[in-house]
Amino acid sequence: MGWKNKMNLNWQDIQNSLREKIGNTAFEMWVKPISLGTVKEGVLTLFVPTKFMQEWIEKNYLESIKSSLSTYASDVCDITFKVRPKVSEEKTETAAPVVEAPKPLDFSSKHVTLEGNKDNYDLSNYYLDNRFTFDQFVAGSSNEFAYAAAKKVAENKDVAFNPLFLHSGVGLGKTHLMHAIAWKIKETTPSRQVVYLSAEKFMYSFINAIRYNDTFSFKEKFRSIDVLMIDDIQFLTNKSSTQAEFCNTFNALMDQGKQLILSADTAPQNLQGIEERLRTRMCAGLVADIGSTSYDLRFNILRKKAGIMQASIPEEVIDFLARKITTNVRELEGALKKVIAYSQLVGGDITLDRTKNVLKDTLTAYDKKVTIDEIQRKVSEHFKIKISEMQSKRREREVARPRQIAMYLAKKLTTRSLPEIGRKFDRDHTTVIHAVKTIEDLSKTNHLIAEDVSLLCQMLSQ
Ligand code: ADP
Ligand code: MG
Repeated sequence: MGWKNKMNLNWQDIQNSLREKIGNTAFEMWVKPISLGTVKEGVLTLFVPTKFMQEWIEKNYLESIKSSLSTYASDVCDITFKVRPKVSEEKTETAAPVVEAPKPLDFSSKHVTLEGNKDNYDLSNYYLDNRFTFDQFVAGSSNEFAYAAAKKVAENKDVAFNPLFLHSGVGLGKTHLMHAIAWKIKETTPSRQVVYLSAEKFMYSFINAIRYNDTFSFKEKFRSIDVLMIDDIQFLTNKSSTQAEFCNTFNALMDQGKQLILSADTAPQNLQGIEERLRTRMCAGLVADIGSTSYDLRFNILRKKAGIMQASIPEEVIDFLARKITTNVRELEGALKKVIAYSQLVGGDITLDRTKNVLKDTLTAYDKKVTIDEIQRKVSEHFKIKISEMQSKRREREVARPRQIAMYLAKKLTTRSLPEIGRKFDRDHTTVIHAVKTIEDLSKTNHLIAEDVSLLCQMLSQ
């Protein structure tokens, strides 16, 4: 629908850029349902289906939307959200439109039918990675507790500890273990109903139920579930009008004796913005963290993955990778895949020299482990600002730009997750995404910024 309104505002372009910025899933969930209102005195009205969606979008995607608008609709200085009026009221709202096509009506007619919304909270419709099984998980001292707990939950019919709460930094096997539990239950006791959802999917399903006034059947669906897993719940921990309701669902499930398995990037006591009662219940279950990997574990994982990929890799190469890439398993696996892909493409054996050569660029980042604190310190020194500006709310360019550069470097030089980086700057993950994109874009057009960034990068990697 590449239509334009009289303000020369191409919603399609804006949507495309947002899809790129925030990813397809988030786009489909949160941006697609937005429809365009009118622009009055530089303020663009955007219609959203519910109050909750408005809050969620404002909290998480406002910056991204604003930055896309500033690129594609320079006439727009600000935006305001409005909950889309019901179809009957809508006529008056859009009576004198600047927008030519009555997009809000399109949306409503498509989604209000019951047919259209059912799948939005179909809990059985989830994806499990078939590589993420217990067989393919390598246990070691850093993860053996989490591994044992996951196995116990998968094998036991009785709810032994509830919830099971897995936490670790990024790429250390939480999702793998959750999928493994699901596979195991499906295999051994198919009568037990398992559901695995990302936190965002869970929230989205729930909100859809509210949106369609169907919380009853949504809750009904949970009754038949025996094991519910929600991955990455740090993304749920924001205050919102439906949070209380969300917690109720959580509590209700536990009261009904459903097995809950949760994961997050931090321990329950450090999760911000969750209800106290919920936190207490999370702490009362079994909390298992996965620590950073040891050399032995990395070595064993590499050997296992190479075996699965049917690649013959000399021991010295495995040793080299296990020594060099200490951050997390995802990165380790990425390096291994790159080496294998290269040898398949170019032909010939995998040797140590080749490995070093193929991974040349990747490995320089691992030569030294940089911390976010260090980045903040160096960047503040470089721009001669106080280090406290890294967390301050000031938005003047002379502090905002260095802050964005620091976020960009944190993403580039460390393996911390976006929410973790955000917390160090007292911001949320979407602000980090926005900062990374901004600095990436600016580095291409502004050589001063490009030089600053590359200089800082060098200083930090030495
Ligand atoms: P997280 O959810 O903690 O960010 P994932 O579960 O997605 O991490 O793991 C990242 C990658 O590393 C996956 O491909 C997973 O298979 C692999 N991985 C992590 N830990 C292990 C392990 N102990 N054994 C085998 N593979 C692992
Ligand atoms: Mg994960």
